[in-house]
Amino acid sequence: MCKGACYLIGEGRSIDIWKDPWVPFAHKFRPLPRGERRVGVNLVSDFILFPEYCWDISKIRQVFEPDDVNHILSIQLSPNSGDDRLAWIPNASGKFSVKSAYLTECESRFILNGPCSSKVWKALWKVNIHERYKLFLWKLYWNILSVRAVINSRFPIPDVLCLLCKLEVETARHVFLECNLVEFLWWSSSWALRIDAFAHLVPH
Ligand SMILES: [Zn+2]
Repeated sequence: MCKGACYLIGEGRSIDIWKDPWVPFAHKFRPLPRGERRVGVNLVSDFILFPEYCWDISKIRQVFEPDDVNHILSIQLSPNSGDDRLAWIPNASGKFSVKSAYLTECESRFILNGPCSSKVWKALWKVNIHERYKLFLWKLYWNILSVRAVINSRFPIPDVLCLLCKLEVETARHVFLECNLVEFLWWSSSWALRIDAFAHLVPH
């Protein structure tokens, strides 16, 4: 959940400049130091001039990376902001919702740490085949097709053997590449594929 939360600055007295998320456009909402981190300068309020309620620009430039200086200076300060408070950034309203939390979690799971690079995914989405097949390939790569091994990993089922050969555990790899009956089906299809010749190209 922390991935989507960022502070809205009131007086900045409760926000640690290195530990807390407080710069909406910075990576992970945290600014980077310019050179060594300074000891003793820890709160956002140390960078705000009171009672003018504006950023101490020269101090900010001394402490933070140039990109983050711009990010920080783009944050509007107001004496009417009240206390520092956490907001949920993925929602335009700043309010937390389960849906936006889920989508934020998906972003890291499906975009940042996927089995393929974004280049491969983009190539897949451009291929001139039915959308249904693209989705199928996407699921195959993510290993989320409902084969018995996957189902069993979520809730135990009594039998995980392949429905066709009854000899091996039914994984996606087995069903599409390794099962003897499937090898026969590929070979007897109109493409006459020797699927075992491709198996070494597909990651386990
Ligand atoms: Zn089988």
